[in-house]
Formats: sequence, structure tokens, C-alpha cells
Amino acid sequence: MNAAFDARLKAELDALRAAGTYKTLKHLTGPMAAEVHMQEAGDVVVLSSNNYLGLADDPEVIQAGIDGLRTYGAGTASVRFICGTLQIHRELEERIASFFGFGAALSYVSCWSANEGLIPTIATAGNTIISDELNHASIIDGCRLAAAKRTRYKHGDMDDLERKLREADGTAFIITDGVFSMEGSLANLPDIVGLAQRYGAVTIVDDSHGTGVMGKTGRGTIEHFGLEGKIDILTGTLGKALGGAAGGFVAGSPALIDTLIQRSRTQLFSNALPATVAASSLAAINRLAACPELLDRQHANIAYFRAGLARLGFRPLDGPSAIIPIIVGDTAFAIAMSDRLLKRGVFVTGFGFPVVPEGTARIRVQMSSALTRAELDRALAAFEAVGTELGVIGNQPVGSADFKGSELR
Ligand SMILES: *Cc1c(COP(=O)(O)O)cnc(C)c1O
Repeated sequence: MNAAFDARLKAELDALRAAGTYKTLKHLTGPMAAEVHMQEAGDVVVLSSNNYLGLADDPEVIQAGIDGLRTYGAGTASVRFICGTLQIHRELEERIASFFGFGAALSYVSCWSANEGLIPTIATAGNTIISDELNHASIIDGCRLAAAKRTRYKHGDMDDLERKLREADGTAFIITDGVFSMEGSLANLPDIVGLAQRYGAVTIVDDSHGTGVMGKTGRGTIEHFGLEGKIDILTGTLGKALGGAAGGFVAGSPALIDTLIQRSRTQLFSNALPATVAASSLAAINRLAACPELLDRQHANIAYFRAGLARLGFRPLDGPSAIIPIIVGDTAFAIAMSDRLLKRGVFVTGFGFPVVPEGTARIRVQMSSALTRAELDRALAAFEAVGTELGVIGNQPVGSADFKGSELR
């Protein structure tokens, strides 16, 4: 190792430690579930995973993965268009297309890879991509790779979006998260669809945090707003509610999917989703479709936990998703609070600057259908104890109902 380069890396890591933003990995000794055993902290209740429906250790999902591995082996050791497409890929993609109500779908090894494979392929030179400023990093990076003119609109600001649409060249692509992961808020899809129709724009929604959470049957934010058939392109992950392993997809028209098969670089030059993951994800979608009680339990848990926090004097941001952010202000404070919660057996991550704007550090709770009432009560007791220790409850409400993401970036 080049000693000077290594020294530079170490100095940069020290700077992260000094700023309190250094991340430490925690090691689980078993599957992701409502409670896990963590090497560093023992048995803990998990309030910070995207395992929204508790399917990561679902017996049917696990069995499907095992069967997929037995039937297809580890993989095809090649990219899809050469000799890497398996029957299970087609089954998964047909299921994704029909489940979400699109003409066709294509799987990728992650939603990151799907966004990077989609955006530059369609947002070519002479066209314009218009992106919500709080969009996920994978959308931002996908946009950076595109030859199209790139613009951002202020978070959720429909007037700003309309201004950008008026200034757009060629085909305009509006791209947004369905559910914003740090706020738990939704994109204003009804107005976005209205503007897209007025200006002839193409709409793209990445609903990674909405899938398996929003909508009466868990089909996501599009279903929540009753906009089935009105969004042009959906991207999403299979690594959150839908089994939690990995994988992502693009759903859209057959011509779009065919274009991606021809041109999308993360599709052409990178291996397919492993068969075991394709099979377990397919089983997860089938579980969601067959078990509406998973969603009912998740919604009941969200209501129960929000009511419990309110009773203790916390004021989390409002929102309809499974994300419950408690704004505490200071980054170091958020990290200290999450450390103390972990010591009391609750795993919930604190996020600070630069992930969220300065002064809006937060504890982000994510609710899962897998959590029992007893686990939620244990978690609330820990919030009460830590809130009291840190002097943040009992005096005044914690959190800020006045916070608006749009004012802060
Ligand atoms: C989590 C997330 C991703 C990344 O998904 P992976 O499948 O893990 O790559 C992409 N977009 C959004 C909006 C996300 O929340």
C-alpha cells in the first residue's frame, strides 16, 4: 500500500470520527427479524430495518430461495443477453409487471443498478430530466450519468416543477421518490401527473419505500393515490419489504423494457439477479398478495407506536408511511440517543448532517408488521427511559411539527 495514500485515508477517517459521523458496522448472528442478536449489543428489538412486512425470515420466502438455488445453481456466470437469463427471471418479471399493473418489467441486481441503468438510457442528449432535490442517491447518480439537461426542483414544490417544465428541452422526464426515506412523506403524485399531462412529460417514480407499505394492497404510492395507469415508469427494490435480500426492477411499457434490454448498461455489462434471490423475491410478492393481514398489522403497529411516542411527549413528523422520524436537531445528540437506545435493547439509527440538513438530525423509526405489542412496549419503555435521561421529555415536546424538508435544502 502506498504509505502516503494510506496516511491520507487515515486522516480522513479521523476527521469523520472527530465530526461524530464515523459509522460502525453492527454484526447480526442470525436473520433480520423483529428481534435480532447483535454481536455488539446482544438481543435487540429492530426499529431501523426496511423489513416492513417481516418477510426477510419468512419460511416460504426462505424455502423459495433454497429451491431456487437447487434448481438453478448459483447463477449463469454471464450477463443476461449472452447466456444469463433464467426461467425464474421471466417468472419474477411477469409477476412484477402484473402486480404493479405495468405492461412489462425487468429485474436488476439492485434498485441502485435499475436507476443507473434506466435514467441515462432514456434521458439522452437534447432531452431534460427534472428531479426532486431530495431524491435518493441512486437517482442523483443515475441523473449524473445522463447526457440530458439536468435540473432539480425544490422538494415537493409544484410551482418550481412547473417552471422547470416550461424551460425543458425535448422530452421532459419528471423523476421522484414515491416515499421520501428521511421524512416519510409522499411525493405529490396527483399534481405531478397533472403537470406531466399538461406539458407532455414522462413520469418516473422510484417507490422503494412505498412498495409493501402504501396503498390498500401494498402496491405502493401509486395505489395510495389511485393513479394506477397514470405513471409511465416505476422503479423499486426487492431489498426492502419484498424479501429484503437484494434486487431491483423497472416496470413500464413493453417498448421501454425492450429498450432497456438493448441499451441499459447495468443490464448489458453486469450479471443478472442470482436465481435464489429471484425466487425468494417472487415468493415475497406472492406472500404480500396473499396476506393482506401483513399490511393490517403494519398499519396497526404504526398507529400504536405513534400514539405511544405522543403519550411520552415525543412529536415525530407526521406522515402516512412506515417511517417515523423524530427530529432532535443536533447530529451528536441524535447519535448519543441512538447509542443509549441500543444499550437498552432497541436498534434505531440516528441520522445527522450530511445525510439530512444541518440542525435536523433525527432518530428514524421504521415500523414492521413483524413487531409484536410486547416488543413495541419494550421499545417505548426504552424511549421513555432515554428521553428522561437526556432531559428531552417531561419538559417540552421533542421533535418539530413545523419542520419542512423543502425549507432546509
Ligand atoms: C433503498 C433505495 C434504493 C436502493 O435500493 P437497493 O435495491 O438497495 O439498491 C433506491 N431508491 C430508493 C428510493 C431507495 O429508498
